[in-house]
Amino acid sequence: MNEWASKIRAGDARALARAATGIENRDPLALETLEQLRPFAGNARIVGITGAPGSGKSTLVDALALTLRRRGKTVGIIAIDPTSRVSGGAVLGDRIRMQRHHADPGVFIRSMATRGSLGGLARATADLALLMDAAGRDYVVIETVGVGQDEIEIAGLAQITVVVLVPGMGDGVQSLKAGIMEIADVFVVNKADLPDANAVERDIALMLDLAEGQGSRPPVIRAVATEGTGIAELLEAVSGPVSLPRQSRLYSGELKLKAEIGIIGGSGLYSMPGFEAQEEVSIETPFGRPSENFVVGKLCGRQVAFLARHGQGHRLSPSELNFRANIYGMKSLGVERIISLSAVGSLKEKHRPLDFVIPDQFFDRTRGRASTFFGEGLVAHIAFADPVCPEVAGVVEEACRAAGVNVTRGGTYLCMEGPAFSTKAESEVYRSWGMDIIGMTNLQEAKLAREAEICYATVAMVTDYDCWHPDHDAVSVEQIVSNLLKNAANACKVVAEAVTRLPAARACKCGSALAHAIITDRSAVPEATRRKLGILIEKYLV
Ligand SMILES: [Zn+2]
Repeated sequence: MNEWASKIRAGDARALARAATGIENRDPLALETLEQLRPFAGNARIVGITGAPGSGKSTLVDALALTLRRRGKTVGIIAIDPTSRVSGGAVLGDRIRMQRHHADPGVFIRSMATRGSLGGLARATADLALLMDAAGRDYVVIETVGVGQDEIEIAGLAQITVVVLVPGMGDGVQSLKAGIMEIADVFVVNKADLPDANAVERDIALMLDLAEGQGSRPPVIRAVATEGTGIAELLEAVSGPVSLPRQSRLYSGELKLKAEIGIIGGSGLYSMPGFEAQEEVSIETPFGRPSENFVVGKLCGRQVAFLARHGQGHRLSPSELNFRANIYGMKSLGVERIISLSAVGSLKEKHRPLDFVIPDQFFDRTRGRASTFFGEGLVAHIAFADPVCPEVAGVVEEACRAAGVNVTRGGTYLCMEGPAFSTKAESEVYRSWGMDIIGMTNLQEAKLAREAEICYATVAMVTDYDCWHPDHDAVSVEQIVSNLLKNAANACKVVAEAVTRLPAARACKCGSALAHAIITDRSAVPEATRRKLGILIEKYLV
């Protein structure tokens, strides 16, 4: 960790302020510092507060901050008002706030009135929220004006979104865009001492009735922020558990603070003992939809994202998988390491059913699968001689031993197209080539993870011998199912052990795989490609 990051972790408010400014300006050192802090994020409660101008949001946020401080909690506030570029309203508001909290290092305030030239407002906001989270703030409050698409996206960064309304604002509920109403987890009727407060509450109820059947009904809290009324109730509402399954409105690439470790495997892993605070995250990527919603939560104290490779109910065949969307989705969640769990057939006598193999090589026998993010005007050649991250593979090997699983480190995973299994002739040829195990999915994952600068290691779980083996035909379906179930149970143990053991920071080279890979002249990269690849390449193209 660099000195800057260490200071921020130690609670140095000035270092934090400098980093916030650096991140807004996309200063490389500040962004690097943010990267180093990323593993420490994921503990803050991120609250979005939105509402039309004049609804008293700032006062409400201030009152919330004061209440939190009284309870010993630290707060980061990001106040966004892109409409005030001309009037300078946010700057003025910021001064008033600064005066109120100025002697208190427990409240860190940052206001943003401009869109920034690179990456946009939502991007900068996500980075700032991540910074405050990693700096150890208990609550990060993002305050926006509910008037535009940017603000809807920003509100989508939050785990809980509060929509503030006030009496006497003309169209009342209609004055806010429909999109804003849909993202509300909590409604606040502020200035509830005004005569029309009941009418506002009635409007909200009516609107919620119309939207009935779309999940749990958000609470409506009456508040008078200037007097501190209703603030305790608001705090309770934003501190409660995030409902499950919750369709998070994360816009891919805009939020990177959700998970540090990714697990690709079966959906059975979600119910693993100790996997807590689960949240279902729907991500749309520039490469399309991933196999399934990601399930993000805490496992053994770490933020982990699970993806069911073949979708819930095993709907997708290996040839149908959108590997790019799966890996891009992981990247956009902030994942730095992927542990992949896969059932495989054995091509060697020594890899017996129920053994786990951690291959260090892949061999491609697939056809025509999309296996790169690059193209469309941006050529990049990554090194792939050693396709597996040695650090993660080492940790996974230890984890297998700790879980009591018979494990072999090293070997070659032959990736076939499928979906039909091999012929005997093919199986024998693969054996003559010295291949160890055979599966249908991991090569593309490994390659794309490398392009995305994510560490990748496979835990290959041997289900049976491939068809070359004399016992192959004698194996009953019951036996195979029984092996699959035993392997799945062992997989849970291995994942828990591995997640516990993975060091917070990476010591391998995977995180800079693209450093010398991009061949195309930076100035020749088409804007559309730049935008499409976004988070994958931005640190090299700024
Ligand atoms: Zn690595």
